[in-house]
Order: sequence, then C-alpha cells, then structure tokens
Amino acid sequence: MTVDLRSDTVTRPSPGMRAAMAAAEVGDDVFGEDPTVNALQERAAALLGKEAALFVPSGSMANQIALKIHCQPGDEVVVGAGSHNYAFESGAAGAIAGVQFTLVGRGGLFTAADVEAVFKPSHLHGHAPTRLVCVENTHNSGGGVVWSQEAIAGIAASARDRGLVLHLDGARLMNAAVAQAVSAASLAAQFDTASLCFSKGLGAPVGSVIAGSKALVDRAHRFRKMLGGGMRQAGIVAAAALYALENNVQRLADDHANARFVGGQLATIPGVSVDLAGVQTNIVLADLGPDLPVAATVVEALRARGVLCLPFGSRRLRLVTHLDVDQAACAHAATVIAEVLRR
Ligand SMILES: *Cc1c(COP(=O)(O)O)cnc(C)c1O
Repeated sequence: MTVDLRSDTVTRPSPGMRAAMAAAEVGDDVFGEDPTVNALQERAAALLGKEAALFVPSGSMANQIALKIHCQPGDEVVVGAGSHNYAFESGAAGAIAGVQFTLVGRGGLFTAADVEAVFKPSHLHGHAPTRLVCVENTHNSGGGVVWSQEAIAGIAASARDRGLVLHLDGARLMNAAVAQAVSAASLAAQFDTASLCFSKGLGAPVGSVIAGSKALVDRAHRFRKMLGGGMRQAGIVAAAALYALENNVQRLADDHANARFVGGQLATIPGVSVDLAGVQTNIVLADLGPDLPVAATVVEALRARGVLCLPFGSRRLRLVTHLDVDQAACAHAATVIAEVLRR
C-alpha cells in the first residue's frame, strides 16, 4: 500500500469527474466561446463574491497576473514570509511584473502594524513605493493555517487608508472556508482580487481562477494571453473544476480531521514535535528533534515503506491529506512513521 501525503495536488480525477469531463460542451475559449469555461467563470465569480472571474492554467499564473494588473515595474509588494508568490514561483515577480517584495510576519501570518512598519508612501526619497498587500489563506508554508477575519479586516483597513490594493492568494481558500464554516465570498470580501485553485484539495487535474471587478478581470485577460495562458477547448478541464465545486468542497472537513489525526499520532513519537494548534486544515508540519535523522533521510526511509511525504527544511516533514487518502490510509501512514522513527 502506498500512501502519498506529499501534497493535495497528487489527487487523480475520480470516475465521476472524468465522466463530467468527457461530457463537457466545449468551444474555443480564446474566442470566449467555451460554454463550460464561461459557466465556471460565472460560478467562481459568485462563489468569491466578485463581478467576474477568469479561468487560468495555474495558481502561480493567477498570482503573477495579480501582480501585473495591480502594479507598475519598480513597485513594492508586501507579502508574508514564506508566501507562495515569493518563495515558489521561480522568481517570476521580479522577472515578469518587475516588482520587489517586502516580507513581513512569521509563519505566513502578519498584522496591520507589520504593513504600517514597512509602508513607503512615495518614491521621493528613493523608495520603491508600496502598492499592494498579498495575503495567503490558508498559508501553505505556515502549515495550512487559517487567517482570522479580524486580522484580515485590520490589514485591509490599514492598507486602504494608505491607498494600497489587496490580493488574496486563495489557492486553498475552500479549506479555510470549510474550517471556519464561513463563505468563500466573506473571506474574499476585503480584497480587490482573489484566486482559487481547483487542482489542490478540490481534486481537479488542473486550473485556477482569478476574480475581481469586471475592469480588473479584463486586464487579467490581456495578461493571461501575454503569458501564453489562453486555452482553447478548456471546457474539458473547466468541467472538472465545476464538478469539484459541486462535490468536493464539504468533504474537505474529512481531510482536516485526517490531518488532526495524523498530527496527533506523530506528536506521540519521542523526538517529534507538532504544533497541533497549527493543524487547522489539511497540512501537518512535524519537526524532528536532534536525536532523530534529518528530514531527507526520514523521507527516504518512509518512501521505502510506501509512505510519501516531503522534507520542508532540514528537520521538518510536511504531510498533506487529501481526497485520495482515507482515514485507514492515514492510520497506516502514522503507524509506519512511528515504526521508522522509533528505531
Ligand atoms: C499551490 C499554490 C499556488 C499555485 O500553485 P500552482 O501549482 O501554480 O497551481 C499558489 N499559492 C499557494 C499558497 C499554493 O499552495
């Protein structure tokens, strides 16, 4: 038995999802004529409480488009330390949008005071003027933590006072919505643009959206084309995303329960520490004490036993639950990890 806990991106489309894809009505989306893409964009805009949405190939492209539509080259963007758009997008922000980042906070979370401390109002003293604040909810490298609505409201109020705009990297926004039992629209309400990935815990093979006002989404459309992201009969994959919104949202609660279970089991292993209060959605970060081998060695030993996870720093493992691993698979993985680490 192999249990793959490397990421929620490893999920494969279910038979029901594949049937929906096979049956999808399609057209040329570069002409705006794919009815399934158009339906998904309307659905996603409503879900996120925005006027419009644009289907894009990846969450990285959604983030990069957000930087392009909100910023000029040379502008400064405030992001949480460890943010995806800073750490995991191949330096695209500098290469494509020509912006620079200021990193704030720890573990992905930050406060209005953090934004105020780094805010630069103008270029007159040679500063790169601050233009945009990005929030990642849930925060991936922070271990899937969910933002409090109060913290976001505080940051948004402070940002607006300073004339800044806001982007939400909502790759896993539905995990946050399910964990807090609130609507995705309420979580996106403070932001000018919000993204959402279908290829993570929602279980679709590919695709994300970026949503915002009609004017911003028109600009996004232009930059999607510029980045080579125009897709033709994309209804085939949009159908998978629609299926995911219909069938795979409420069940994210199972992934969260499984992550809490795995985290709780790992926390009982001598030398392993897990911040259980931080296991709020489907990601578990487990720290290996000095008497245990380093993460890369542990990952290899686990792989030999059929349990896959990722090293996340030299002494940290990341395990992600998702719709292709059930409770029994998680229990099996926890047992194997305990056996490997107790030796
Ligand atoms: C996965 C992810 C993305 C986008 O990833 P793609 O692989 O480009 O779809 C963006 N932000 C966060 C927080 C992510 O976890």
